[in-house]
Amino acid sequence: MYQPPVKDFLFVLDAQLNAAQLAKSTYYADFSSELAEAVLNEAGRFATGVLEPLNRPGDQQGARWTPDGVKTVDGAVAAYRQFVADGWVQLGVPQSAGGQGAPVVLAIAAEEIWFGANMAFMLCPMLSFAAVEALLLAGSPELKKRFLPKMVTGEWTGTMNLTEPQAGSDLAAIRTRAVPDGDHYRLFGQKIFITYGDHDMADNIIHMVLARVEGAPPGVRGISLFVVPRTMPETGASNDVRCVSIEHKLGIHASPTCVLAFGDQQGAIGYLIGEENRGLEYMFIMMNAARLSVGVQGTGLSERAFQQALAWSRTRVQGKLIIEHPDVRRMLLAMKSSTQAQRVLGLYAALQNDIAKTLPAGEARAAAVARAELLTPIVKGFCTEQANVVTSLAVQVHGGMGFIEESGVAQTMRDARITAIYEGTTGIQSNDLIGRKLLRDKGAAMRALIAALMADLGAAANDPPAVAAAAAAARASLQSLQQTVDGLFKIATASVPAAYAVAVPLLMQCGFTLGGALLIQGAQIAARRLATGDADAAFLRAKIETANFYSTHWLPQAAALATTVHSGSASVTTAELI
Ligand SMILES: Cc1cc2nc3c(=O)[nH]c(=O)nc-3n(C[C@H](O)[C@H](O)[C@H](O)COP(=O)(O)OP(=O)(O)OC[C@H]3O[C@@H](n4cnc5c(N)ncnc54)[C@H](O)[C@@H]3O)c2cc1C
Repeated sequence: MYQPPVKDFLFVLDAQLNAAQLAKSTYYADFSSELAEAVLNEAGRFATGVLEPLNRPGDQQGARWTPDGVKTVDGAVAAYRQFVADGWVQLGVPQSAGGQGAPVVLAIAAEEIWFGANMAFMLCPMLSFAAVEALLLAGSPELKKRFLPKMVTGEWTGTMNLTEPQAGSDLAAIRTRAVPDGDHYRLFGQKIFITYGDHDMADNIIHMVLARVEGAPPGVRGISLFVVPRTMPETGASNDVRCVSIEHKLGIHASPTCVLAFGDQQGAIGYLIGEENRGLEYMFIMMNAARLSVGVQGTGLSERAFQQALAWSRTRVQGKLIIEHPDVRRMLLAMKSSTQAQRVLGLYAALQNDIAKTLPAGEARAAAVARAELLTPIVKGFCTEQANVVTSLAVQVHGGMGFIEESGVAQTMRDARITAIYEGTTGIQSNDLIGRKLLRDKGAAMRALIAALMADLGAAANDPPAVAAAAAAARASLQSLQQTVDGLFKIATASVPAAYAVAVPLLMQCGFTLGGALLIQGAQIAARRLATGDADAAFLRAKIETANFYSTHWLPQAAALATTVHSGSASVTTAELI
């Protein structure tokens, strides 16, 4: 039974990141530590009371296609109604758009809890939020008036329609056509893999669709973004968009993954968002938020997997309780420490978005935006790849039972698999990291981040020896990362494909180093609190021990990856694959 790790969230938000600093700005004047605690406790109650009980039955039953539309799993409609009634849809939506305006860092923390309890359910609200963001960002006042209010309350849900059979990672290949027709367009084409593209949980579904206006330039510069409602809001008439089938998948069975046909008859009515041919640009801004959320899915499932494995190890006896076997302890600590490193990395990245919003336009704000953008592919790629490792370890801790569906842990592993694929595969995140983030600003944002973390880890004079050793390891790892990034520029100058050949190892090195540095910085804070006689000594000691484990078991991976980045390109680019 999944338990929300609220205590760890509050430690990271309050003691480590000082998220309450946001309240100094008028933008987040209502925010406080107490508010964060209340919200996370309530989010946790929703997770354990409503979402968790549906997780396994939903996996077993799965969403179903019918000629009258997709039917979600038993209980999902009621759970969604409750989610809406409790006002959760509005949590992260700005107050100016009728939302509660919670900082991204708090909304992301709540999301991790809900993903941990039931990832398949939560994909629907997550995508709705992304659709709301797209409208807020680039929609005309008229479009906002027509669609936003009911999307913000959750009465209507939203989707993201990018993928087509020939256009997955390569969105330049999109073929869906948009033909101007008076004040709107008519869309013709097929989208695949559309999450919650059809369902019975809400009155209407508002699709955000990438398509090409006839005569637009080829490639990514000719793609536009459209709002296509399933049902026309004013008349209640059905639009010409139809769910043709849903996929049979490895995991997230309760989440319908739809093939959508647009324009089988007269063309699906769509309204242009922003300007023609700028669709991908808008989509990217919205995808950055979604990518952070998908990274956090990895963390939520890692936490779930750890809890499942811990519970099992406390009841299974082989000679003695298996939790007493050193290798099982190692696996549990690997899961726990990875999860906590993922969490602090994700929350740190989310906070940069909030800090940017509180600053006036200028250098400091630009630096916060750059740091958020730099960290987004790292959070997405690293946390989801680690989630695959951590959920697999949970199966290992269960032994043979882990391979058996009744244990529940097999589902966690299956559900986690997709996180490293959708919203841009790990390869695509790594290309983004190198191309758009590191090469474009010549490493400026990364240099500033490394320097900031080095400074945070600096004042370690009175730390206990184990913490001081971990901090020294983290500093060395940060220095090594700086060298790797500098070296990458040399590789890229000589040959761009050579740099892309080691993009994923570089992203993973970033993840281990940055996540490790933040986790170890948390241990320093915990040690200081412990020294002042903080009441929660057991929690603080565990925080320190977890970071110590990370510094000796996970952090060394960064050094190995540095070697690969430094000297691994040629073996990729020159080898014959026969
Ligand atoms: C369950 C599920 C839900 C989804 N939900 C949605 C949704 O709601 N909306 C939506 O629009 N899409 C959705 N998708 C689609 C998803 O985003 C794509 O599957 C994903 O982007 C990968 O595209 P692809 O499947 O075509 O793989 P491909 O692009 O064919 O990739 C195959 C392999 O090639 C690699 N590759 C491709 N190009 C490059 C490159 N330039 N550099 C390095 N490596 C590369 C990839 O990393 C991957 O390993 C969903 C998919 C699934 C399975």
